[in-house]
Amino acid sequence: MNDKAYLPFTRPTLDEETIQGVADVLRSGWITSGPMVEQFEKGLSEYLGGKRFLRTYLHATGAMEEALVMAGIGAGDEVIVPAMTFAATANVVVRVGAKPVLVDVDLRSRAMLMDQAAAAVTPRTRAIMPVHLNGMAADLDAVYALAKKHKLRVIEDAAQAIGTEYRGRRIGSFGDIVVFSFHANKNLTTIEGGAVSVATAEEAKRLEILRFHGITKHPDGTMDVSEAASKHNMTDVAARVGIGQLKHLDGFNRKRRELAYRYFELLADESLALLPAKGDAGHSWHMFTPLPLYMKYGLDRNTLKQRMHAQGIGLGIHYQALNQFSFYKKMGYKEGQFPNAERIGSETLTFPLFPTMQLSDVDRVCTALKHCLTQKA
Ligand SMILES: *Cc1c(COP(=O)(O)O)cnc(C)c1O
Repeated sequence: MNDKAYLPFTRPTLDEETIQGVADVLRSGWITSGPMVEQFEKGLSEYLGGKRFLRTYLHATGAMEEALVMAGIGAGDEVIVPAMTFAATANVVVRVGAKPVLVDVDLRSRAMLMDQAAAAVTPRTRAIMPVHLNGMAADLDAVYALAKKHKLRVIEDAAQAIGTEYRGRRIGSFGDIVVFSFHANKNLTTIEGGAVSVATAEEAKRLEILRFHGITKHPDGTMDVSEAASKHNMTDVAARVGIGQLKHLDGFNRKRRELAYRYFELLADESLALLPAKGDAGHSWHMFTPLPLYMKYGLDRNTLKQRMHAQGIGLGIHYQALNQFSFYKKMGYKEGQFPNAERIGSETLTFPLFPTMQLSDVDRVCTALKHCLTQKA
C-alpha cells in the first residue's frame, strides 16, 4: 500500500480466483443455497478437524438467535453475557424472550471476569455466552467448568475468532455451540454470513430446520412444517466467497499476528497507549484495540480520531459498553456497574489491521499517533 493512501481500520481481501468464482455462480442458474453452501460447510468442517457439524447462516446474529432457540432458552431464562461485546450478543438473548445478565470484563484481555460470571448464576441461569473478542480466546476452561457445575449451555460468540486457537485447538473444533461471523470485516468473509458448530447430527438437523421455515422435505417431494421458524439460509454467491477465503485464512491470520506484534514492539513502553493483552500464538488478531492515552495529552477521543483521520488513518470504536445503551438502561442496567467495560467503551480506538497492510503501515500509524497526541492545537 502506498504511503499516501488512506489507511482504513480494516478492509476485506478478495482474490481474483474468488471474484471469478462468484461470476461463475451468478452465471450458473443456481444462486441461492445449493452446491456452494454444501461445499463451504464441508470446507469449514474440515478446517475444524472434521469431527463437528457445521451449518451456515445468513449472519451470526441469526445463527446465535436460533442456537438459543435450539438450546430451549426463552421466557424466564437468564443468560450470562459480557458487558463489553457487540450489541448482537445480548440482543439475541432478548429476542428469544430471555434476560441477558451482564458481567464485567478484564481491561486488557476483554474476556468475561469469571468470578463475576460465577456470582451471576441464579436458579434461572440457563446459558453462558463467552465472547472471543478481538480474536483472543476467552478462558474456556473456566467457562466450561462453570457450565458443568450448573448444567448451563455454552454458546460461544466466536464471531471474531475463526482460526483462533485455545490451548492449541481451533475454536469451534470442540465445545458446546460455537457461532462464527463472516461479516465483511471479519477474518474470513462471505460479505454477510455466519456458521454454527455443534457436536451432534441431531442438533445440526434442528439448525437446518430453524434456518429454513421449519421445513423438513420428504422423499416424495412433499414437505412438513414442524415449527414456525424464520429464514436464515446463506446464498451460494456468499458461500463461494467463503470457499475462496478459507484457502487464505491461516495466511491472513499469520499476517494479522505479524502486524499486531509490530504494534506491540512500537508501543511497548505504553507512553502513548494502554495495550490490549498480547495472548499467545493462537490469537487471530481480528482487531487491535488499545486505549490511547489522549487524556494525558489534554485531548478527548474524538479529537484524536479526527487528527488521525487528517493524517490519512481511519480508527474505529469497538465497542461501547452495553449498559450505556438506552435499551439496556431501560432493562435496569446503570452507569458505573461495569467499570472495565465502560472504560474500554469510552477510551478504546481500533487501529488499522488487515492482511494487505504492510509492517511499514504500522510504523506510519504509530508515528502519526505520537504526532497527533503531542501536536499543539
Ligand atoms: C460481528 C459480530 C457479531 C454479529 O455478526 P453478524 O454476522 O454481523 O451478524 C456478533 N458478535 C460479535 C462479537 C461480532 O463481532
